Amino acid sequence: MTSDQVVSPGAVIGILGGGQLGLMLTLAARRMGYRIAVLDPAGAESPAGQIAEWAGSLTDEADIKAFTRRVFVVTLEWENVPVNLVERLIAQNIPVRPGVYALATSQDRFREKNFALKSRVWPTRFRPIGSERDLLMAKDCTELFPGILKKCRDGYDGKGQVSVESFGGLECAWKDLKYESCILEERMNIKCELSVIVARRPGDQELVAYGPFENEHENGILRTSRYPAGSSREVSEKAVRAAKKLAVALDVHGLLAVEFFVKENGELLFNEIAPRPHNSGHLTIECAETSQFELAIRAICNLPWGNVGLHSAGEMRNIIGDEVNGWEADVASASPKTCRIGPEEFLHLYGKREVRPGRKMGHIVRRRPPDEHFQGLGSTR
Ligand code: ADP
Ligand code: MG
Repeated sequence: MTSDQVVSPGAVIGILGGGQLGLMLTLAARRMGYRIAVLDPAGAESPAGQIAEWAGSLTDEADIKAFTRRVFVVTLEWENVPVNLVERLIAQNIPVRPGVYALATSQDRFREKNFALKSRVWPTRFRPIGSERDLLMAKDCTELFPGILKKCRDGYDGKGQVSVESFGGLECAWKDLKYESCILEERMNIKCELSVIVARRPGDQELVAYGPFENEHENGILRTSRYPAGSSREVSEKAVRAAKKLAVALDVHGLLAVEFFVKENGELLFNEIAPRPHNSGHLTIECAETSQFELAIRAICNLPWGNVGLHSAGEMRNIIGDEVNGWEADVASASPKTCRIGPEEFLHLYGKREVRPGRKMGHIVRRRPPDEHFQGLGSTR
């Protein structure tokens, strides 16, 4: 197909990865009349696989072939999809969106931060730790301590990261990370964390951006996101501009989520990208005209944007690990701190079969009606 062809409803969209992001993408796509095929390590047991028209295993050759025969366009909901699988699909003339360049960049923290630097979107200070020599050279980089040593690949939800107080602890931290390629990053006092979700589509120069959302983490895992963020208008606008710049530079056709840190002095720093829907954007299901998931489908199918913009303020709270076992009691108890579901509160459960510590099992959105101060800044075109 040509790059700016419209993918019409009725076509099968393939999704690489079948977690909660795939589930919510599938729900949005079905509502718009698309059919969904999913490849995930857990196949039909995965959250998206349970409701897709077809699901197979990401590691099974016969399933990959069957997926390839079905799909018209492919998107992803997981950064660690093998790049060679994506290249194989592209070689068979199946577009994979947001794109292999954005995917490969997001898979490697060193490459990702260098890309941001090259695009003049300033990241936290960092340097690579991939050899004995790198380790020794870090001795003189006092500005990076206290720091965080992060594996370049396969980290998520704070996994694959070790805090390092001083140079003396670096080798031990690297050993903990099995001497894999890492980056050492300055550990900062962060005033707040922001994220922006940008949508860009093949036939159109007009970008849509949602956010910034303000994010709070616990143990490296996202706990809550809220909109609007408490950042100043200047910082918020800067974050949106930077995210758009990166989406263009990466030639994204689909969604690009960009995470930022705001330092105590108000300085905005790049943290990382994800070429997919983002946990911080879940509240767009209830608080926006068009959710991030529908926006993703519109972008990959090259449909017009339609109505975009956040119409309400809101807060999303993740349900993590065995918190999911208590939600019925919480609903009944009306305890304000937990999962009480009242008017303007929306519960999402992902149908994951196994509860594991730190695993995202669902989320709750609390929507606030717009007050007189609500600016509806959420979508900037
Ligand atoms: P992940 O891929 O696991 O999301 P991140 O690099 O975004 O990895 O780190 C997860 C969280 O850990 C961040 O959202 C932030 O709360 C904290 N964190 C990461 N890097 C730093 C840093 N350099 N300084 C302070 N906190 C950090
Ligand atoms: Mg992150």
